[in-house]
Amino acid sequence: MCVFCSIIKGDIPSKKVYEDENVLAILDISQATKGHTLVIPKKHFANILEIEYPEYENVMYAVKKVTEKINVVYKPAGFNILNNCNEAAGQTVMHFHVHVIPRYDNNDVKIEFTDHSKEYDLNQIAEDLK
Ligand code: 5GP
Ligand code: ZN
Repeated sequence: MCVFCSIIKGDIPSKKVYEDENVLAILDISQATKGHTLVIPKKHFANILEIEYPEYENVMYAVKKVTEKINVVYKPAGFNILNNCNEAAGQTVMHFHVHVIPRYDNNDVKIEFTDHSKEYDLNQIAEDLK
C-alpha cells in the first residue's frame, strides 16, 4: 500500500488540515514554506492522467478551500499550486496529490522556467494541441 493510502487509512500519522468525504489535506512532512499542504484524494490514483474527473474536481475544490484558509491565517504574499506527474517531473509518491505552497518572499522556493520558445514553431504546437 502506498504511503498516502496508509495515511488515509490512519496507519501512518499526519497533520490534517482539511477533510471531507473524498479528500484529505495534510501538512507536507517537509515544509517548503510554513503551511505547505498536500491535497490528496482518498481513492488511490497514480497521477493526473489516471484520476477520474469527479475525483479530480473534488481535489481541486479542496485545493481552493485550503488555499483560502492559509491565505486568511498566514497572509502569504502568494502561492504555488503544484502537481508533479511521474518520476520525470519529480513525483516521488505515486498517489495523485496537489501541493499548496504559500510564498512569503521571492526566494523561499525556486521554481525556474527557461524560455525555449525560439526553438519551437508555436503555430504548429497550437495546431497540434487544439
Ligand atoms: P511529490 O514529490 O510526489 O510531488 O511530493 C511528495 C511529497 O510528499 C513530498 O513533498 C514529501 O515531503 C511528502 N511526503 C512523503 N512522505 C510523507 C509522509 O509520510 N507524510 C507527509 N505528511 N508527507 C510526506
Ligand atoms: Zn495510494
